[in-house]
Amino acid sequence: MALDSKVPKGPIKDKWTDYKNHINLVNPSNKRHIDVIVVGTGLAGGSASATLAELGYNVKSFAYQDSPRRAHSIAAQGGINAAKNYQGDGDSTYRLFYDTVKGGDYRSRESNVYRLAEVSANIIDQCVAQGVPFARDYGGLLDNRSFGGVLVSRTFYAKGQTGQQLLLGAYSAMNRQIARGKIEMFNRHEMLDVVLVDGKARGIIARNLVTGEIERHSAHAVVIASGGYGNVYFLSTNAMGSNVTAGWKVHKKGAYFANPCYTQIHPTCIPRSGDYQSKLTLMSESLRNDGRIWVPKNIEDVQAIREGRKKPTDLSEDQRDYYLERRYPAFGNLVPRDVASRAAKERCDAGYGVNATGEAVYLDFAASFIRYGTEQAKIQNIANPSEAKIKELGQKIVKAKYGNLFQMYEKIVDENPYETPMMIYPAVHYTMGGVWVDYNLMTTIPGCYAIGEANFSDHGANRLGASALMQGLADGYFVLPYTIGDYLSEDIRTGKISTDLPEFEAAEKEVSERIEFFINNKGTHSVDYYHKKLGKIMWDKCGMSRNAAGLKTAIEEISNLRKDFWENVNVPGTATEYNEQLAKAGRVADFLELGELFAKDALVREESAGGHFREEHQTEEGEAKRNKEFQFVSAWEYKGAPKDAVLHKEELVYENIEVKERSYK
Ligand SMILES: Cc1cc2nc3c(=O)[nH]c(=O)nc-3n(C[C@H](O)[C@H](O)[C@H](O)COP(=O)(O)OP(=O)(O)OC[C@H]3O[C@@H](n4cnc5c(N)ncnc54)[C@H](O)[C@@H]3O)c2cc1C
Repeated sequence: MALDSKVPKGPIKDKWTDYKNHINLVNPSNKRHIDVIVVGTGLAGGSASATLAELGYNVKSFAYQDSPRRAHSIAAQGGINAAKNYQGDGDSTYRLFYDTVKGGDYRSRESNVYRLAEVSANIIDQCVAQGVPFARDYGGLLDNRSFGGVLVSRTFYAKGQTGQQLLLGAYSAMNRQIARGKIEMFNRHEMLDVVLVDGKARGIIARNLVTGEIERHSAHAVVIASGGYGNVYFLSTNAMGSNVTAGWKVHKKGAYFANPCYTQIHPTCIPRSGDYQSKLTLMSESLRNDGRIWVPKNIEDVQAIREGRKKPTDLSEDQRDYYLERRYPAFGNLVPRDVASRAAKERCDAGYGVNATGEAVYLDFAASFIRYGTEQAKIQNIANPSEAKIKELGQKIVKAKYGNLFQMYEKIVDENPYETPMMIYPAVHYTMGGVWVDYNLMTTIPGCYAIGEANFSDHGANRLGASALMQGLADGYFVLPYTIGDYLSEDIRTGKISTDLPEFEAAEKEVSERIEFFINNKGTHSVDYYHKKLGKIMWDKCGMSRNAAGLKTAIEEISNLRKDFWENVNVPGTATEYNEQLAKAGRVADFLELGELFAKDALVREESAGGHFREEHQTEEGEAKRNKEFQFVSAWEYKGAPKDAVLHKEELVYENIEVKERSYK
């Protein structure tokens, strides 16, 4: 099948405006004859549902949680980007576009990214109008902070709870439409298949998770907004329920899946503590604004710290290796996530990890306490403040900025991060890959759309911090509501889609049979047993560090594990009650298929991109070699980068799936 990205012609900065001026529209009185299903109520699905209903479409929204406001988006801590240039520090639409494409290792579709940058400013206005309590500066204006991979401050935030506050905004917009009857909300419902009629997406099969009932729902279009699939690794920063099922089902019905193997490995997570852990916890990237990352310079100090003979605070400045500041002087601790993660792994692999497992580096706020404290002492006219007073004043400022994150760290690790540096290590966080979509956000199934983290389009091989919330809300509030109308304009006379069609019956039968299988199999191993095993293969062989032999072994191992799963999985309980294990069995079955595709994708990409490196690029020298090969790294000001390593041409053509032109020197 030839993939057509449908990117409009013309200069990149005019594409979206021209496109909007020429697409087909559905008039207001016809919209009420058209039904749209939205699977997911996170920031992408919630904003899409609210906006489509506000426009007049009849929307049916689905979520497996008990309320839209419990979607995983609620976990987002750090912030949301927008090219508002409120700080007057040189930001612009172009810079946001450029940073995003560069941050994604030049593997994103530029036209989508430019549009994203263009609409980013509208998102902030929309959310402020909804009452989202963004942080404000002393004068009452919206405040910004900086995230990795950029040289400006463009991140809007609400303390460490930005996702929650944005989701409450989208949820209240949804609720207005639920009250009007324009959104029918199906909480605790899981989509288990998409239904195609004459090749078009015309509905879904969903299971009521409380009663176990299998339901048919029809519509003129189906939107997948089901989030990311990082839990294919078992351990990730994602919510426990995050899964790939909705995306995988549409893939199995014909929608293409793109870049499955690009995973964001976030550099600042609380390190794993043992084999019985089921979840990893993120420490927001915003902490890298004020925290400095280091490991000891000398291996003897590493040993002493591990054995408890020394504390990190015993080491003087010249005994510490602030390796990001050393290697990337222009960006320092705020290099993009993939660069920071690779560098942390490189130091730990070289033996400098500071905890018992050897998988931790320090994130240290001591310098910020002094910097802020000194400033505060001046502001408060405190003459000759003691060191302790300065530290106390500085800690107050840091507490105001990140207090909830520090508290969370202390609860989990049982160490006070105000007194001793935090320990962090990279962890699976976000999936750049997903269902392939064209410029309209439509998959290769007509009438089936994918938005938010569920699609692949905007972030290339690595996503910059605070840009997932931006993308989800851009897709839902400002992009899909236009592009879907162009498609639906053909459906104004179609009338209701009947759920009695044989296509619905066949899909329902398949879903029911699978559920019966799980309940009746009575095997020997739990669903988690398989999920854990899959996660270990994924992390060890398809994680940050990859090689061809390991990936080939992974493909074989996953295939064997899947076979074992279908023979020996044990799901307790019945199908007619709330049965979390049953729901999870279906999700893990899909992960076991995705995992194999994932490894195959990684195998054919003979490259180091984003958070992943081929073995030969794993050391610091290897990183320099990779940079030389790809010739784009001077952008990150890597100290060892060749002087002439500059972009030859900024616009990389990424259409019809193949990179037609490698635009590096
Ligand atoms: C800890 C953490 C912190 C983060 N912080 C930030 C940040 O500060 N800034 C930033 O930009 N990004 C951040 N991210 C990333 C960002 O939160 C996510 O990428 C984004 O929220 C995803 O939104 P979404 O709407 O696409 O999906 P989600 O919010 O994951 O929503 C998915 C929805 O789909 C539903 N669903 C899924 N499958 C089915 C199914 N089969 N049937 C029915 N419903 C289904 C769920 O019920 C849910 O409603 C963070 C991520 C994590 C893990």
